[in-house]
Amino acid sequence: MNKELLRKLPKIDELLESELIMEILSSNMRIVVVDALREAIDIYRQYIIEDKIVNFELKEILDLSLLLIEKKGSNRLKRVVNASGVILHTNLGRAKISKEAAENAMKIAQNYSNLEFDIEMGNRGSRYSHVEELLRAVTGAEAALVVNNNAAAVLLALDTLTKGREAVVSRGQLVEIGGSFRIPDLMSYSGAILKEVGTTNKTHFYDYEQAINENTGVLLRVHTSNFKIIGFTEEVPLEDLVKLGSSKGIPVMEDIGSGTLIDFANYGLNYEPTIQNSIRKGADIVTFSGDKLLGGPQAGVIAGKKQYIDKMKNNPLTRALRIDKMTLAALEVTLKYYLEESEAVKHIPTLSMLLASKEEMRKKALKLGNILKAAASHFEFELEDNFSMVGGGSMPAERICTYVIKVTSSKFTANEIEKALRMNCIPIIIRITGDAAIIDVRTMNDDDFEIVTDAFKRLQDK
Ligand SMILES: *Cc1c(COP(=O)(O)O)cnc(C)c1O
Repeated sequence: MNKELLRKLPKIDELLESELIMEILSSNMRIVVVDALREAIDIYRQYIIEDKIVNFELKEILDLSLLLIEKKGSNRLKRVVNASGVILHTNLGRAKISKEAAENAMKIAQNYSNLEFDIEMGNRGSRYSHVEELLRAVTGAEAALVVNNNAAAVLLALDTLTKGREAVVSRGQLVEIGGSFRIPDLMSYSGAILKEVGTTNKTHFYDYEQAINENTGVLLRVHTSNFKIIGFTEEVPLEDLVKLGSSKGIPVMEDIGSGTLIDFANYGLNYEPTIQNSIRKGADIVTFSGDKLLGGPQAGVIAGKKQYIDKMKNNPLTRALRIDKMTLAALEVTLKYYLEESEAVKHIPTLSMLLASKEEMRKKALKLGNILKAAASHFEFELEDNFSMVGGGSMPAERICTYVIKVTSSKFTANEIEKALRMNCIPIIIRITGDAAIIDVRTMNDDDFEIVTDAFKRLQDK
């Protein structure tokens, strides 16, 4: 151990008086700076004790301190670059909202608003009123209510409609959505008694018919959005359930999960049940997520018959599940686009990413590929025919044709590339297939290109 060198280690107070650190202090909290300096000095002390270095410059310690300040000062929740090609990546925050929606949320957050104030009457208003008319217009429903997320929407609807009575569900629809959201568990929280009918692959009309008794509260249909049962299967169509329900005076509810207001079949993709369709077929209540195919903020929408929605509005549980003002602000902007489908497709990032053509993606991949080739010659970047995914438990069978950039290197394995990009200061999330790292440009913004390019430059200098 070099005792001489140990004595050369700077004191925190000395560093705090250096010009560089003084400047850093003007834009960082003192506690963060002091903490980083202490950690940097400790790291160098350990190097000396373990004879890992024979000398050091003060600048090295300051540089390390700066890195640590940046790390400690940065937020834990941060933006990442989604280069995975999974459009609704639940782990990466699901739908990315439009710029206009985000700006409106910011405006409402930074100012007072008429959240619960009726401007014309000058007295108390309802936070639910702001988007109800829009929701009626775009879904065709008589009434609507928004809550925190779709899980909350299902909970509130069941709690209101059943409360100690039975909810009849097909065994083929008792799904787990992920993140431990299971329809049967949620039902028991709501106080509904689960009445399973049919089998995993087949449920018939008479199964529902026979299950109905004086204690039946609701006939529930759940869209199995994240998996597909294929082969010898049968579920009862919504319109038949509606006939049965209305003949017995029992409401029919459909949890459609990933709510879409546009018909993807018109764009050459697989048909995904639309919300308008369920309302038109007579569902009394339809619930769906705001941040899946709808492409808005996290929210749960309940649309349907006024008599039931009114009851939900008066349920004390609504208060606990309520939507916040920033979400409402972003949701209103998002929903407005749906008044005209072409506007929705143009402005809502989820839809524009989902519907971008293979040719557009080829051009985008070519552009990034060329930038990367010029910047990081230690890697091979090749265009490859491939698929993007919708994700978020939506459209599981849909593989969207696209072009991706396949990255290989004689210096790094695919796993090393994936990890280095993931550990970048702005994390870059890619996928690996076989022995290649894959960059899928479908889910990337143009300003992500520079971040990815810088990361590759740094990686090759390692
Ligand atoms: C995603 C989903 C949910 C849960 O929605 P959240 O908005 O994540 O709470 C419930 N039901 C179905 C069918 C779903 O697909």
